[in-house]
Amino acid sequence: MTDTDSPSFTAPHFDNRFVSSLPADPETENVPRPVAGASYSWVRPKPAPAPRLVAFAPEVAERLDFSEADCQSETFLQVFAGNQLLPGMEPYASCYGGHQFGHWAGQLGDGRAINLGELVNARGEHWTLQLKGAGRTPYSRGADGLAVLRSSVREFLCSEAMHHLGVPTTRALSLILTGDKVERDMFYDGNPQMEPGAVVCRVARSFTRFGHFQIHTARQEHDQLRQLVDFTLHADFPHLLPDGGEPDRDTYLTWLEEVARTTAQMVAHWMRVGFVHGVMNTDNMSILGETIDYGPYGWLEGYDPDWTPNTTDAQGRRYRFGAQPQVALWNLAQLANAIHPLIEAVEPLQAVLEVYREEYQRCWQRDMAAKLGLAEFEAGADDELVAELQRVLQLTETDMTIFYRLLADFDPRLDEETDDRDDQALLAPLEPAYYQPLDEESRRQAADWLRRYRERLVRDSVLHGTDVHTRRERMNRVNPKYVLRNYMAQQAIDLAERGDFSEIHRLQVLLRRPYDEQPEFEHYFAQRPDWARDRAGCSMLSCSS
Ligand code: AMP
Ligand code: MG
Repeated sequence: MTDTDSPSFTAPHFDNRFVSSLPADPETENVPRPVAGASYSWVRPKPAPAPRLVAFAPEVAERLDFSEADCQSETFLQVFAGNQLLPGMEPYASCYGGHQFGHWAGQLGDGRAINLGELVNARGEHWTLQLKGAGRTPYSRGADGLAVLRSSVREFLCSEAMHHLGVPTTRALSLILTGDKVERDMFYDGNPQMEPGAVVCRVARSFTRFGHFQIHTARQEHDQLRQLVDFTLHADFPHLLPDGGEPDRDTYLTWLEEVARTTAQMVAHWMRVGFVHGVMNTDNMSILGETIDYGPYGWLEGYDPDWTPNTTDAQGRRYRFGAQPQVALWNLAQLANAIHPLIEAVEPLQAVLEVYREEYQRCWQRDMAAKLGLAEFEAGADDELVAELQRVLQLTETDMTIFYRLLADFDPRLDEETDDRDDQALLAPLEPAYYQPLDEESRRQAADWLRRYRERLVRDSVLHGTDVHTRRERMNRVNPKYVLRNYMAQQAIDLAERGDFSEIHRLQVLLRRPYDEQPEFEHYFAQRPDWARDRAGCSMLSCSS
């Protein structure tokens, strides 16, 4: 594991601030254990016996100054499979804890994530490269540190899809089959199978999670806590530092407020596009307000605030779609608790939570106005309009993505005084969104809502001069036409498991432009097929990955 021998490969520059600024675990033997008083442990990726490149993301490569030829090179394959280190890489696994499903779980840590280092690109940006599935670390507890192809395809495709949707997220550079076979009990029913192993190289400015701070506070390591907060401020929030000075108590509070705002923005985006994370434990919350850890996530098909794709959460439904804004707030409260030793007062921390509520409300109103094509949200009247819409969307199974996209084509006949179309005619353009035909009563209620919406559009056009064209453009910029429906990912996985990566590549192209009409891909703008309703991977997923 030394130097590169591929002449075409441009060797990047590394500046590993996390490991040079924070305390290392003095123990270097790679065995599972509690790691106290340290932020990370040195560890080496497990060699992959027969690596094979499945896909890479050209946009991420470009960000890192890798050329197309670099990504196709043997060096790239060996490095991002875990077989070779580039000069300047210093691999480590970091230590964090977390609340899982509402309970403090103690030390978790990078159990199957190995950070290779912080690449500095030509623009001077630091990007941490992290292999997911590259073998055991001191944080692996009883598990193998590996990842299977199906969950790696899901992470690779979805994190990039989210980025192109405008949702803050970690990125994915590459997806590589390792040649290893990995044993997984997908249904937790005592029937484990051997599955192909894979490694994704994830990329983010920082992989620090709420749980990184929590673990120090839980262990009363207040010096390490302050060190980590100060490091995070210097590395990722330098704009918050007082002029030339070191952070103080006010800086810490301003920082928490920024985390509250970016977290609110992230969740508002999820709600806008119909994304359900599935495992919003505090160890899965990024300090940068980015979506992180793509496990049993899912996309709403039928609009249902109570839906969760995660079978492990089927009982309590703690992380159901409609609960996400509240859960993020709960998680922020845990982060605020973790920072308490540096603040030593409760009120300013409560004020941080208020910042979250206000920011979420602001984003949600802005997004709902845009989803409906309105120039602005009128509190009161529009709250009612939206509440009524959410009720109407649940009269029968109604595809969220298709509904909002087709709503842009609803013709409100703005220059006519009245609209004498009957219910059926009004609703006709929305029919492809309904999984079953509406009964008469539901049709009446849905049409009533459309008439109220029409009145609202008339007012918007009088107040703001919005015409039909402007409205459609506005809506199509926030209501995606194409999302990574669960069955689409599963189809790509089924083929990939047979050695055919073409569907992964097709979905990469499709999901690069989710808001654009792409006539060659029109067949993806369709309801979930019947066969996918109850199939594993399509409607329900476990944490086994
Ligand atoms: P997750 O539910 O994927 O967010 O993982 C929770 C914790 O379990 C984290 O500390 C992970 O690193 C760890 N973990 C999950 N899967 C594995 C695995 N296959 N091997 C080792 N650690 C794992
Ligand atoms: Mg996790």
